[in-house]
Amino acid sequence: MAGYLKKKGHQVTVITPSDYPQFLNWMNGNGEVLTYEGQRRQKKANLLIEDADVIFCLDFSALGRIQDMENPVREAKAVKVMIDHHLNPEDFAQFFYHDSNAASTCELIFKLICLLGDKSMIDIPMGECLYAGIMTDTGSFRHPSTTPEVHRVAAEIMELGVNTNLVHRRIYDSSSTNRLKFLGYVLSEKLVVLPEYRTAYFVVTEEELKKFHSQTGDTEGVVNYALQIQGIVMAVIIVDRPEAVKMSFRSVEEFAVNTIASKYFNGGGHKNAAGGKTTGIGLEATLKRFLDILPEYKEALLAVTT
Ligand code: 5GP
Repeated sequence: MAGYLKKKGHQVTVITPSDYPQFLNWMNGNGEVLTYEGQRRQKKANLLIEDADVIFCLDFSALGRIQDMENPVREAKAVKVMIDHHLNPEDFAQFFYHDSNAASTCELIFKLICLLGDKSMIDIPMGECLYAGIMTDTGSFRHPSTTPEVHRVAAEIMELGVNTNLVHRRIYDSSSTNRLKFLGYVLSEKLVVLPEYRTAYFVVTEEELKKFHSQTGDTEGVVNYALQIQGIVMAVIIVDRPEAVKMSFRSVEEFAVNTIASKYFNGGGHKNAAGGKTTGIGLEATLKRFLDILPEYKEALLAVTT
């Protein structure tokens, strides 16, 4: 989106509420992204937000999702444009391009640029970013969100000359040795399977993160491994982070995890992929809360055909 706006002659700054995994650092423009962390950068970002004419809010449907950036963005005089595919969009923007049936925000950005008659402006670096967004949000084109339209958009991006295999390798085959060892450890030592609830989960402590020199994004995707077990309907990873105990939920078929995330863990997300957190109660109490709610969902978990 930034690449497109720059080509249209605008001055653009990309601001992210928190740092993102290193496996995305190859993206064009990465060096100019401002992370909203630390006093100096927050101050700089606040001035930019205050001065902006337009703020594009990409890939989130409620301002609470951008944490400390919420208030500066809410109060900014800029025209706000939301481009997103998450459920229950909050009414904070003047313009919405929102479709909860879209597999990813990048799919929507591609379509928007085409609708504006500017498809020819999408160059290879922009196409790589768009493809990365679509590929990751569809789990490499396997989640139920992968519609024929997703494949059509991906095909059009390939036709631009994007090396999609390279994009895939940069994201999925760029693990550090520590990350791979961490994954091996978590799978062999931390996986708990509850066949009676068709649920599998991992609990990761702060010490374990430290032991494997865990970087931002190192736990990303780990939860999906638990869904590889035959018959498992819900998978969860609970990670003790300094700021909160973070949870990632995944599920299959009609079993919805976003409702669990929002009802019990201050979170939300999609039907089959959601996240949440607890603060102030610690890892053990978070796990207990999760285990205590399982009986409520037992019938629904057992009813799913896998
Ligand atoms: P992940 O498990 O990959 O962090 O997140 C999966 C999905 O859940 C993403 O679409 C993400 O936007 C959403 N999600 C993650 N954490 C939260 C949260 O705390 N609140 C809400 N509303 N959604 C979340």
